[in-house]
Amino acid sequence: MGFKFNRGCWVESHEDGLLSCKAGDGNIEGSARTSPPSTVQRIDLARRLFRSFEEALRKDRIVVELLHRIDQDIDRTARAMAELGIDEACALCDRTSPCGSCCSRGLEKKYDSVLLLINLLLGRDLPDTPTREDSCHFLGHRGCRLRIRHMLCIDYLCPGLETRLGTAGLIRIQSVAGMEIHTAFLLYEAVKKVIRE
Ligand code: SF4
Ligand code: SF4
Repeated sequence: MGFKFNRGCWVESHEDGLLSCKAGDGNIEGSARTSPPSTVQRIDLARRLFRSFEEALRKDRIVVELLHRIDQDIDRTARAMAELGIDEACALCDRTSPCGSCCSRGLEKKYDSVLLLINLLLGRDLPDTPTREDSCHFLGHRGCRLRIRHMLCIDYLCPGLETRLGTAGLIRIQSVAGMEIHTAFLLYEAVKKVIRE
């Protein structure tokens, strides 16, 4: 499917498969359901998964190693974004553009309960209500409120920023973002494995 950012850019994307697992208290988010769960329902399921599986997840050697690694990867990407002026450019859009930043309303649909559960494992609270009705559910007054993010959020750059960064800047940000995305994928799969077992 295509996805439209606030500022008129379209990107191709594919909806993630829905998690099919037990939440410990019998609730199932099934892969065959026709109407996807709302953001509030996915947050609720993430919290129930957290209550049921936190202990098992924190005992799993691979999950623990990957939680440590993703923290380092996220910090590395954030440093590169700050040094390359990406943070500043996006914050300027948010403050001055009538359509805000690229954190558009609807992007929260990319976040399933497992990704939200990992945010809880990384110590982030999940907001029950959006801070700003016209933007992504997870956009706060000082940027994204999540720690681990969907790959679309990690690696999207508008054409204007791509031009400004030039080849060297693009290579730098894409290499660190690529590492973060790779670790996030491994962690996501490791967490799902523990939950399913
Ligand atoms: S990616 Fe580009 S258009 Fe989007 S918020 Fe950042 S600077 Fe603005
Ligand atoms: S999850 Fe975070 S980075 Fe992604 S669109 Fe929402 S606020 Fe922006």
